[in-house]
Amino acid sequence: MTITVFTIIIAVLVLGAGLFLLRAIPSMRTYFTFRGKRLVTCPETHKATAIDVAASEAALGTFFNEPTLRLSQCSRWPERQDCGQECLQQVEADPENCLVWKIVAKWYEGKKCVFCHKPIGPLGHLDHAPALLGPDFRTSEWSEILPEQLPEVFSKYQAVCWNCHVTETFRRLHPEMVVDRPAETKRVIM
Ligand SMILES: [Zn+2]
Repeated sequence: MTITVFTIIIAVLVLGAGLFLLRAIPSMRTYFTFRGKRLVTCPETHKATAIDVAASEAALGTFFNEPTLRLSQCSRWPERQDCGQECLQQVEADPENCLVWKIVAKWYEGKKCVFCHKPIGPLGHLDHAPALLGPDFRTSEWSEILPEQLPEVFSKYQAVCWNCHVTETFRRLHPEMVVDRPAETKRVIM
């Protein structure tokens, strides 16, 4: 008798865990699909706008029924916090390609550093971020630029590798410590 009750309890627990997993897996998938900073075209201004989707809320929605997408952040907030969030249709249509990371990785793909001409290489989360050379001949890391400004910046700036960015920044900040040797086309830091 005791064994039978014990078996029933185990069976119920296993069934419960199975049902939980059945809901938890798509829920996790929803979370990973919708997390991260994205660039969309604002339907109101027709300009690039940086947004964040409430990924945890969407994941919770998937767990219980259907994901409900909502913005958790927008570069036009707080001024337009009461907008209809129609831009979410762009996220639903293609969640991956509007990710800022993906857009940046695509822009650097196949590009060479404007200084040393070495290939920039694929964008990695653990590597030093590549940089950009602006029309004012100053270098900056792409992550220092507001995401909504990236499309315009990418049309005017050039790709720079991390090493050259560090060298050029040092050269700009300490010109007295850098000697140019044109014959060797190298700069010597004193
Ligand atoms: Zn370089």
